[in-house]
Amino acid sequence: MDMIVKRGGAWYAYEVKSSTRITPTYILDAALQYYVICHSGLDLADISIVNVNTDYERQGKLNYNELFKISSVRNEVMQKQDFVRDNLQRLLDIAGDPNQPSVQIGQQCFSPYACDFMGTCWKAIPENSVLNLNGVAKGELFQLYNNGIKTLDEIPLSYPLNKQLKLQVECGLSNNVHIDREGLGKFMDTIHYPLYFMDFETIMPAVPVFDKTHPYQHIPFQFSIHFKETKNAEPVHVDFLAEAGTDPRRQFVEELIRQTSVPGDILTYNATFERSILIQLKKQFPAYADAIDYIIYRIKDLMFPFENKLYYHPLMKGSYSIKNVLPALAGGIDYENLRIGSGSVAMTAFENLQSETDLYKIAETRDALKAYCQLDTLAMVKILDVLEHSLANNSGINKGGVTELVADDFEFDRDGQQFLEFFA
Ligand code: SF4
Repeated sequence: MDMIVKRGGAWYAYEVKSSTRITPTYILDAALQYYVICHSGLDLADISIVNVNTDYERQGKLNYNELFKISSVRNEVMQKQDFVRDNLQRLLDIAGDPNQPSVQIGQQCFSPYACDFMGTCWKAIPENSVLNLNGVAKGELFQLYNNGIKTLDEIPLSYPLNKQLKLQVECGLSNNVHIDREGLGKFMDTIHYPLYFMDFETIMPAVPVFDKTHPYQHIPFQFSIHFKETKNAEPVHVDFLAEAGTDPRRQFVEELIRQTSVPGDILTYNATFERSILIQLKKQFPAYADAIDYIIYRIKDLMFPFENKLYYHPLMKGSYSIKNVLPALAGGIDYENLRIGSGSVAMTAFENLQSETDLYKIAETRDALKAYCQLDTLAMVKILDVLEHSLANNSGINKGGVTELVADDFEFDRDGQQFLEFFA
């Protein structure tokens, strides 16, 4: 329990959560704490959960009364007291049993939190495990796995796989790349040079740092752009990284407009993110609305062919995240050796810079942030290169025994018209 307060002779308990809503897990957590506190001899008049209020917009000095939302959960907690009592007894029985309980892996390994024992229970998961399948309910996968169907080749022919899953299984078993030539060709026809490859990094502070921002609002602080004048031109790199301690948004948007002023399509990976940041900036800086619209209008999504299985490599393991697509298509570039190797680490690194005074550490972190963001856009350059070559050579990427399947082997639910309209 985070706080117990005595007021007017009665005790009140408060559980503070950084989240924005009350979940069933929080109610159970509060129910357990209520049980322990009351059975320790302290009567609680009430128990509340304190959340972050995302409707709060900072204007000047922080208003803590508006930033936090306090909700009494006493009624819900009281309804769970029998459940807590019964489970405490069950857990005490397990703890007192000299034999290790026999439990199969399952959804409980992740939910509500990742279990600390995964290193033990999950170490025997085979390489081509059915648990790697994407697009099947996790419960169904665990049912398959715990019923002895542990690897892709053990899936019975009669098992009802949808077309996308069939693709994952077939490619996983044969180690073949799948290319939907027609679909990929149509997508590639929508991409025109000169071409920008663009990526943003943001922070999402729970406590708004800048005026006119809400808790957890994305604040863009960095971008990387690779620019290719023509298909065969060398990519030129530019970037922006805000100085810590100031609101980065105005400088970010002004620099972005400047660096994308030459007409040309703009490729991002998961365009929804970059578009949403730009729409937010447009509201913040109406004077730049037209210039921002001109950026939004040119954005195209390099994730599209992977999300829609126009190109699938077994190493992608059913995922279309750039972190899975990149090593599958362009081995040799990886994030492993970077000091900052993910968006969440970049976020924390920049937030830490706000209070850092050691000039050496500041310079080192800034270099690491730039290296990370630059790799994200270089990765897009490499990925597009592989897609272009795959179509131009009329073949897959043929490495390590990987060969191409013909698209007609797979028909999956894709509305070709939809994506052409989207990219028109
Ligand atoms: S990883 Fe944790 S939750 Fe999963 S089976 Fe092992 S002990 Fe249970």
